[in-house]
Amino acid sequence: MRPPRALRSVPLDERGVALVSFCGHCGTRPEPSALAAQPSRVCGHCGLGLVLHAGGDVAPRRDQPFLVVDATLSVCAVSAAAEELLGIDETQAVNKHIADFLVPADANAPSAEHLLTLLIEVAGGSGEPRTTVVRPRHEFGVRFRARIGSCGSPQAALLVLI
Ligand SMILES: [Zn+2]
Repeated sequence: MRPPRALRSVPLDERGVALVSFCGHCGTRPEPSALAAQPSRVCGHCGLGLVLHAGGDVAPRRDQPFLVVDATLSVCAVSAAAEELLGIDETQAVNKHIADFLVPADANAPSAEHLLTLLIEVAGGSGEPRTTVVRPRHEFGVRFRARIGSCGSPQAALLVLI
């Protein structure tokens, strides 16, 4: 009987959670072997997005819409599913302020839970993923739960609509 193969070392985030790779456009999670074979950071599936990394408890699952926001609250990426859900175009959204697209569902929420505060903290690399409730800026009847955690690289906040 052959001995079991040695476990590969898995990269971890600062909390010790295993990192997951995913495309910033289509959300596809590339196989580790594909990543090794293709050192380019461009997604091998859609050829449009860059491959990003986030903790397994933060990374979007297949078809979950998401946006990536930096510490200045500028939009860095909008997934294809989020483009469709929010009716926005990534090329027009990039470098705009996140509040042009999503705002807190409850404007009176305590400041610790405020969407923008959360995004700045997370994009700065602090702590645990959190959830909040958001709505599209121009729609009042629609709400989404959002999971916010850090991703990279470069360091940014990942906002997944769940
Ligand atoms: Zn892709």
